[in-house]
Amino acid sequence: MYYSLKNNLKSNFRNAVSKGIAKDGSLFFPKKITKLDKNALESVKSLSNIEIGFLVMKDFIGDEIKNSDLIKILEKSISFEFNLVPLGNFYSFELFHGPTLAFKDVGASFLANSLNLFNSNNKKKSTIIVATSGDTGAAVAKSFFRMHKFNVVILYPKNKITKFQEEQITSLGENIYPIEIDGSFDDCQSLVKRLLIDHDVLKELNINSANSINIGRWLPQIIYYFIMFRELLNNNINEKLAISVPSGNFGNICAGIVANKMGLPVEKYIASTNINDTIPRFLVNQVYKPYKTKRTISNAMDVNDPSNFPRIMKLFNNNFKDLKNKFVSYSFKDKQTRDEILLNYNSFNYLLDPHGSVGLLGLKKFFDLEKKKYTGVFLETAHPIKFEKTIKSIINSPFGTSIKTNKRKINTISIINNFKILKEIILEI
Ligand SMILES: *Cc1c(COP(=O)(O)O)cnc(C)c1O
Repeated sequence: MYYSLKNNLKSNFRNAVSKGIAKDGSLFFPKKITKLDKNALESVKSLSNIEIGFLVMKDFIGDEIKNSDLIKILEKSISFEFNLVPLGNFYSFELFHGPTLAFKDVGASFLANSLNLFNSNNKKKSTIIVATSGDTGAAVAKSFFRMHKFNVVILYPKNKITKFQEEQITSLGENIYPIEIDGSFDDCQSLVKRLLIDHDVLKELNINSANSINIGRWLPQIIYYFIMFRELLNNNINEKLAISVPSGNFGNICAGIVANKMGLPVEKYIASTNINDTIPRFLVNQVYKPYKTKRTISNAMDVNDPSNFPRIMKLFNNNFKDLKNKFVSYSFKDKQTRDEILLNYNSFNYLLDPHGSVGLLGLKKFFDLEKKKYTGVFLETAHPIKFEKTIKSIINSPFGTSIKTNKRKINTISIINNFKILKEIILEI
């Protein structure tokens, strides 16, 4: 049902989820994306979140997970609200109401619970390794916490995530092992990719990744695009749709494009980025050239070599012109992100987080350039409380929230960006 993008290595769902990445070092991709027929698409209007999840995921899994188990997994991974909130002429689709307050909870929990099911008869523990630009680590840690068949190693870039995010990652302990790397997210990500295909590591450990390179994390993200569609239908909104997705590793927007291949009527996808702008530049000159990653206030998008972009190219059969028909990408500076947060706070008393702000900026730019009539939705991917210090400095006042910050001890290992040292630590765990 799946194949690797490099050497066309075949795999079923279970193996692809359990390995994370193919032996040739490339990403798995579904062999077939089944288009929902018109009736199924219309039925979404009256389905629950879990039923939508089932409809979306079933064909990607086939009979490798029993229906009753699939439903249990879905109940754990989409157990919270997704709200479509009008904001001026646009809509904010809020994905941050999960346990760690960012959209990553959906994919991370789906992956953890699928692996837990697959591993239930394994004697040996598995090691989950994940690189995080801020929110993935929290979601993965929370999802795997106290699943005793797993040790979870989380690599995060030193001084480049917020205090709140660091506390979420480092305060759990037990089977969660945070490691702070003196480098960027891209450094962390390349360490993960090397570990996953390293001979010594593979000999010693059942190792797997929980980044969106893993289809078990990537594909469930399709679900909330259909939940959004239900909300739009139920509000009688049926103009052409343009969706802006704040993008870093491009897993989320890539899932959105799969939703379109499955029949979700979306006219345009807008990949909104911060100044880490490899893809916006690529769309201008067709040259893929990552620069050194720069630090921004939308830190979960401080990525310059997005892992999922090959999948996006594949979805358009590597045809640049087809890609450009459906897909635009713009980048924004921190100053613009801040101004947009303040503007929406003052105009609508709505607090954007820095990522959602970039998403809204992308949507507005698209509307400025295109004169056609669209319904514009942006994904609000994290709760603003995760960026408390930044937000406070922008709106110049504290913001009331019932969410408690985690004040527990930070417990982490700190190392330089060095593969050999990391490998030694991981083999010791
Ligand atoms: C991870 C993340 C993003 C970027 O998502 P990708 O799938 O990596 O493109 C955007 N916003 C927030 C809040 C995130 O945590």
